[in-house]
Amino acid sequence: RGPVLLCQYHNNSPGAACSCVCRSDSGCCFLTVFLLSYILILKHLHLAVLLSHPQAVVNDGVRAMMESALTARDRVGVQDFVLLENHTSEVAFIENLRKRFKENLIYTYIGSVLVSVNPYKDLEIYTKQHMERYRGVNFYEVSPHIYAISDNAYRSMRTERRDQCILISGESGAGKTEASKKVLQYYAVTCPASGHVETVKDRLLQSNPVLEAFGNAKTLRNDNSSRFGKYMDIQFDFKGAPVGGHIINYLLEKSRVVHQSHGERNFHIFYQLIEGGEEDLLRRLGLERTPQQYQYLVKGQCPKVSSINDRNEWKVVRKALTVIGFSDDEVEELLNIIASVLHLGNVQFGGEDGGNAYITTDTQIKYLARLLNVDGSVLREALTHKKIIAKGEELMSPLNQEQAGAARDALSKAVYGRTFTWLVNKINASLAFKVSLYYHISNMAGSFELQFCINYCNEKLQQLFIELTLKSEQEEYEAEGITWEPVQYFNNKIICDLVEEKFKGIISILDEECLRPGDASDLTFLEKLEKTLGGHAHFVTHKLADGKTRKMMGREDFRMIHYAGEVNYNVNGFLDKNNDLLFRNLKEVMCLSENKILTQCFDREELTDKKRPETAATQFKNSLAKLMEILMSKEPSYVRCIKPNDAKQAGRFDEVLIRHQVKYLGLMENLRVRRAGFAYRRRYEIFLQRYKSLCPDTWPSWDGRLVDGVSTLVKHLGYKPEEYKLGRSKIFIRFPKTLFATEDALETR
Ligand code: ADP
Repeated sequence: RGPVLLCQYHNNSPGAACSCVCRSDSGCCFLTVFLLSYILILKHLHLAVLLSHPQAVVNDGVRAMMESALTARDRVGVQDFVLLENHTSEVAFIENLRKRFKENLIYTYIGSVLVSVNPYKDLEIYTKQHMERYRGVNFYEVSPHIYAISDNAYRSMRTERRDQCILISGESGAGKTEASKKVLQYYAVTCPASGHVETVKDRLLQSNPVLEAFGNAKTLRNDNSSRFGKYMDIQFDFKGAPVGGHIINYLLEKSRVVHQSHGERNFHIFYQLIEGGEEDLLRRLGLERTPQQYQYLVKGQCPKVSSINDRNEWKVVRKALTVIGFSDDEVEELLNIIASVLHLGNVQFGGEDGGNAYITTDTQIKYLARLLNVDGSVLREALTHKKIIAKGEELMSPLNQEQAGAARDALSKAVYGRTFTWLVNKINASLAFKVSLYYHISNMAGSFELQFCINYCNEKLQQLFIELTLKSEQEEYEAEGITWEPVQYFNNKIICDLVEEKFKGIISILDEECLRPGDASDLTFLEKLEKTLGGHAHFVTHKLADGKTRKMMGREDFRMIHYAGEVNYNVNGFLDKNNDLLFRNLKEVMCLSENKILTQCFDREELTDKKRPETAATQFKNSLAKLMEILMSKEPSYVRCIKPNDAKQAGRFDEVLIRHQVKYLGLMENLRVRRAGFAYRRRYEIFLQRYKSLCPDTWPSWDGRLVDGVSTLVKHLGYKPEEYKLGRSKIFIRFPKTLFATEDALETR
């Protein structure tokens, strides 16, 4: 009995090993130990089977080890939170997460949602063998893994012919980028390939170091933090081979180009170029090998990061640019721009006492003129003057020192931001599919310029998440012919409306102030918010309804009650960031540039276009709305990433920080929805296969209809009618304790 049972459960890769254990008496112990450790890592439920094997020949040492492993459920927790006895308890949730984290089990499910805790160390769980283990295997048959999510999405795409998307969320440093890389690597290794598909795979993989060099930076929270929102589409042909890809980027954190907080860095590419660039390249670009010399690189006082080797990274990026298909000329133009931004940062102005600004750093202007291919004197004038149109006539109005500095920084941000968009478009062109496209798998990770935008995005994703989770639950019940029981949940639409509603929403009010000539300022914006939104259940300022002042709140702050908690926003800089204006004459200079990339980034038509460009928040709102539409049309899978500590340390589980993220990611809400009806569901054949030995009528095999077999089995086990329901293809069990009792019966049989 034993051997057969074991092999059935392990009919994937370790099947052969299982057979050996049971057939060879002599080598049994070693193999058992091997098997035991394997099973422990993989799935604790399998362990019960091994221990219940009556004929297993084991010596005392092995037995002791097995017995200690019997308590595996206690030790490693449950691999799906829906199996927690007390599913409403946050304490139990976190305890389960802690147990698993301690055992290096970083992945846990909530139904089909994958919760991942950043281990901050390399785990041996991403090898080719692991990939093979998850290939084509049912989601629940193997331990939770990002590969299971990837494989499941891929197979649903092929069998159900529906577009899929994988949504990866979590705070900075939680592991989103790593997770998306793992998804890509999985597809690159496991999907079929032929001919040019290899090129697409290479390009997909190589696009990552390039995007990271230009869009990632060291922050206090993460040495390699993505400073832009990213949505990536992979396109597959009808044979399931990846044939193309598309990336959409959202709101690069441009302000980082000109300013970094203490302990943080500018985008990686600047340091990579300075540290790794060849001598003659640096000479041509007029750069020195000392980051400290560049104003845009000294603000955070952190030129070196121990976990980053800029020189090596430079080589990787340089090679990746070639693999993606950038020509030498394009790389040269691109580096000219990167060097120009550094030179721009070193442009200094005289005119201290409120007089007109003048440039005191001639060398920089010379380099800029050459690298950007613009007229030096025109650039010089544009950096110190503002063009105004009065009575139909164009006048150059001089700027003071502070204004000129701001104009210079605005130019640097615009040049870098637009070059980044150009770069993403260029990668997209190189990934464009060449065979007809069938289905997509997309994934998204990100963080955005304004904290406000990040939180707004999270509200939208949460809304989508709850809606889709509820929808898929409901669909499954309907498909299985089981009555749907409505679930009570907090609908955060009210918060989304607070941000995005026309005329009354925060973005509308912000835009209105940005467009209003005269005395509009961050404070008048706050006043307008108070007037329009005062009394809203999710909006608070320091003013109380009775005219008194709320304690503990700044006069320049407003507070929003997000679904995940309260956040204070300081209005300082809101108008500027939203306007994101570049003086017209600086735009003109860039339009005249002969640098081939800049001519594509600064379109001359922009100069004749009378329409005011969209504000940053409105652009973001619109692209988010489009994204939601795309996501709604696909079947989503979710990966929720958690950061275990702020020190980026392996093995440290900071409970307060984790509790905050569990709340912020809406995990308890998700579990509640998932558990509202039935905690556990399995296809009949899988359920029967596992437990058939517990009932004489179903053992050794059941010949009738599967549903009748399961019905006979659970009746024999004493399930009460209210504890379960039988659908068309699955059994639904309401409480985990029912399932655990059955598991225990298997163990003690
Ligand atoms: P995010 O994109 O959420 O800001 P990252 O994916 O960049 O975070 O992760 C931050 C760092 O944490 C990575 O550079 C890596 O060192 C570590 N890390 C993240 N996920 C894993 C993982 N699955 N295994 C090992 N280390 C990881």
